[in-house]
Amino acid sequence: SIEFNQLHKRYGAHPVLRDFDLKVQAGETVTLIGPSGSGKSTVLRILMTLEPFQEGCLTLDGISYHQPHGKPPFFASDVHLHKVRAKVGMVFQSFNLFPHMTVLRNLVEAPTAVLGLSRDEAEGRAVELLHMVGLSDKAKAYPGQLSGGQQQRVAIARALAMRPQVLLFDEPTSALDPELVGEVLSVIRSLAHEHDLTMLMVTHEMRFAREISDRVCFFEGGRIVEQGKPDQIFNAPEQERTKRFLSSVL
Ligand code: ATP
Ligand code: MG
Repeated sequence: SIEFNQLHKRYGAHPVLRDFDLKVQAGETVTLIGPSGSGKSTVLRILMTLEPFQEGCLTLDGISYHQPHGKPPFFASDVHLHKVRAKVGMVFQSFNLFPHMTVLRNLVEAPTAVLGLSRDEAEGRAVELLHMVGLSDKAKAYPGQLSGGQQQRVAIARALAMRPQVLLFDEPTSALDPELVGEVLSVIRSLAHEHDLTMLMVTHEMRFAREISDRVCFFEGGRIVEQGKPDQIFNAPEQERTKRFLSSVL
């Protein structure tokens, strides 16, 4: 599970998250929606340990992190940092594959180097994952030879190759041509049904958010304004700000 507790995050003097609270249970699929610049990506980047924060507490799988008064170190030790990174996988808007490696090598590299799997084990797992995302025939291709939708499916498989407990998606389809969005969403949809995987996703695809989320959080001004089951948020939002946002995007 993930828990943000009264988290404060500033970039310089510019506050982005204020008293930010969010709890995601193991196995839950939670979607963050909200206006541009509201801090959605920052939430994911903090979880991925790509960004420090100034106050409050982040708990991941029972391990808590504080950063009192903005003083480093963010983590007690590098050991902690590696532990967090091993639990969390992230899929970005841009696919970020290693361009000089085949698809298979993209999937084998980190599990062998970081998890210490044997080459055979890692390849076996990579082949299964490529099958799962419908790309068994592309193992020997290079990223540049794939469509955007195919590259993003490889990126999802690569994140899963590390066997994360938590998978983060930051607008995974917004860099794609419209006709390629569906194939990526269908892979994510199949993952949402896996009971062990916790997913936190930022998306502008409202219909999709509605369909796959256990919970939708409307986020603005550095905090969650309103959250609830998709039906409640999309059909019967209570807050004026949520209503205004939804009427501008739906
Ligand atoms: P979008 O929907 O456009 O992706 P977002 O909700 O993901 O927006 P963030 O990227 O989290 O928003 O940014 C939140 C705020 O923090 C914005 O005002 C942004 O300008 C600022 N910000 C983000 N990254 C940095 C950075 N590295 N340095 C300084 N300010 C930043
Ligand atoms: Mg963003």
